[in-house]
Amino acid sequence: MHRSQAFRRGLMMAIAIAVAVGAALVQFRVIEMGRESGSDRSQEFLDSARARQTPAVQGPLSGFSVGILVGHNRSATAEVQDVGAVCESNGQVTHTELQANQGVADIVIPRLEELGARVTRLYESDDRLNSLSVNLALSLHADSCIDATGYKAASLPASLTLEKEQVFITCLRHWYEHHTGLPWHAYSITDDMTHYHMHAKVAGNTPSVILEMGFMGGDQELLYEHPEVIADGIVDSIRCFLTPTDMPPLPEPPS
Ligand SMILES: [Zn+2]
Repeated sequence: MHRSQAFRRGLMMAIAIAVAVGAALVQFRVIEMGRESGSDRSQEFLDSARARQTPAVQGPLSGFSVGILVGHNRSATAEVQDVGAVCESNGQVTHTELQANQGVADIVIPRLEELGARVTRLYESDDRLNSLSVNLALSLHADSCIDATGYKAASLPASLTLEKEQVFITCLRHWYEHHTGLPWHAYSITDDMTHYHMHAKVAGNTPSVILEMGFMGGDQELLYEHPEVIADGIVDSIRCFLTPTDMPPLPEPPS
């Protein structure tokens, strides 16, 4: 009887150990699974936080920020808009400057974003202009409805970033002219352009330039029918300014 008692005790012990080990294994597995799903969750959180901080697209302009101000557009929701200059025919307004500025901005902004830049669409009465710190602030305008042709750009003469602004304007002289074929119209640069309100509002380290893309009279077809050509000129000028070594050499002008 001693032997069978010992056997039974041994069996009971073995069963108890097996149950304990099994329970421990199950518990271990549950902890492991918890850890896995927990780490999945924190990874998802990190991924979404990262997505919010960086643009969705990685490209040649990743890490750069640009402010594009839509000339005369008071705000995204303003009930009464300033339309800027107008063309009239028989007392009826046929073209507004605001339409031209918006049409070009609507192409330029997504294109810069596709290249990886962080872009802020700005308005004339935009609080974000105060101390705005970006790699370039550019305001888009078109000149009056007269029979003239050409473009020009200006910055504040006393700007702290005058050298950078001059580099950007040199890029316009190359790339904007290359795409649009428009001549530089220096003598129509006015005090309104050099003392444009944006220049004084942005942070001291932000280059600020106002561009008059063309005349609503003489350059009407380009401004209203081919805004993508103007956008090409602006985007390549911005690329030339931000990443000069990425630019291909300009093709020789036709002789
Ligand atoms: Zn204007």
